[in-house]
Amino acid sequence: MIQIYNTLTRKKEEFRPITGGEVKFYVCGPTVYDYFHIGNGRSFINADFIRRYLEYRGYKVTFIMNVTDVDDKIIKKANAEGVESAVIAAKYTQAFFEDLAKLGVKPATVHPKATEHMKEIIDIIKRLEEKGVAYNVKGDVFYDISRFNGYGKLSGKNIDELEAGSRVEVNEIKKHPLDFSLWKSAKPGEPFWESPWGNGRPGWHIECSAMSSKHLGETFDIHAGGSDLIFPHHENEIAQSEACFGKTFANYWIHFGFLNIDNTKMSKSLGNFFTVREILEKYPAAAIRLFFAQTHFSVQLNFTQEALEAAAKGSEKMQNLKDSLASYIQTAPENGSVFPVDEYRAKFNEAMDDNFNTPNAVALLFDFIRDVNRHLDKEEKLSKVSAAEVLKFFDETAGGVLGLFAARETGNSGREDDVIRLLLEIRSDLKKEKNYRLSDVIRDRLKEIGIEIRDSKEGTTFRKL
Ligand code: AMP
Ligand code: ZN
Repeated sequence: MIQIYNTLTRKKEEFRPITGGEVKFYVCGPTVYDYFHIGNGRSFINADFIRRYLEYRGYKVTFIMNVTDVDDKIIKKANAEGVESAVIAAKYTQAFFEDLAKLGVKPATVHPKATEHMKEIIDIIKRLEEKGVAYNVKGDVFYDISRFNGYGKLSGKNIDELEAGSRVEVNEIKKHPLDFSLWKSAKPGEPFWESPWGNGRPGWHIECSAMSSKHLGETFDIHAGGSDLIFPHHENEIAQSEACFGKTFANYWIHFGFLNIDNTKMSKSLGNFFTVREILEKYPAAAIRLFFAQTHFSVQLNFTQEALEAAAKGSEKMQNLKDSLASYIQTAPENGSVFPVDEYRAKFNEAMDDNFNTPNAVALLFDFIRDVNRHLDKEEKLSKVSAAEVLKFFDETAGGVLGLFAARETGNSGREDDVIRLLLEIRSDLKKEKNYRLSDVIRDRLKEIGIEIRDSKEGTTFRKL
């Protein structure tokens, strides 16, 4: 049984989806005004680990990650560059999809865009207004937090504490300092949409209430995001959706710890960030993923080049075992010893069932690599069937759940191996024709690029050094 630490109840709970066998999962995506940084990347990759694990456990996961494509920051950048806000949003939405794919993050079932949900956004605001929870001041519509009893339940604070702890904008027209914008009246030079309150654009929080209910329903299973979003963003999403629909919004709330640099949160505004693009020039996605998997998502993590270097070596070890196993299977005997793969699968599941404990799962996988390698060196050879089971487990966990095989994520490994096998076939024909000079050239040149060929009675295998 999967246990999830729920920010809302502040305890670990057994995961029970609304519909058996299915998970409805929403994650707050990026505001597309720039390339995303490796701190944002940490949240997206952690969400990906959880989604992939739920799929591995047999759930049908509807995974929604939105794109905030209308926002103050986008407008500011567009004005600075003298272009329409939609141009900036389109450019960085495209970049977001590219970078996400390079990180090996599976695309969401749907990546909804705020600008394509104006009808749903306006509908919710209208209902809130009808219920007396929203008020209109000359085209600016605000949420009246005094009308929602549960305000503060996610962050665990009462209204006075929240007010003291947050930098709320001073705004004469609001009834309460913590009231927030649902609809902002159009200002010169800003994109706008028609609405019952005049031309304007939505506030950030209402976008997520509208997109989540559209794609997942009025109540869904899991809502996740970085821990900076607990207040006010997620608190406000709850206030909006629960006041509008009169139902629980999300059953489990998962929050990701920050990626820090020198113990300070990595952020655009502080300028202490590296973009995912920059990092991917130096390190494979598998190294970045392993670096994140080695620390639990709930705690803060310091970014260092040294840690990434170490993770790069670790991900090579993962890839090497996969390659050695694939090669070993080609010539493995039908009868032979059996590796206790079920024990490792049980331990892997135990680690991940416990609030998706990736660091324990990774530690287990490194033990597994060591033990399989020892086994492969033994006199009594591993049988073909057992070796295939070992590879299947490793492929499903290190590969399928955590995405730790660099080449696999970029889709090159399979093709590279096919090319090597093709060369081995040609070499074998050359040997039959007694063209030993050319067959040796193939062997020596492959060795030079780090691929070692081994000839034996059973045939030829290769190993990446
Ligand atoms: P934004 O584009 O700023 O709305 O952020 C997109 C996602 O990245 C949100 O879920 C944020 O909580 C998350 N995020 C932003 N900065 C960091 C960081 N330094 N570490 C981890 N997650 C972050
Ligand atoms: Zn959101």
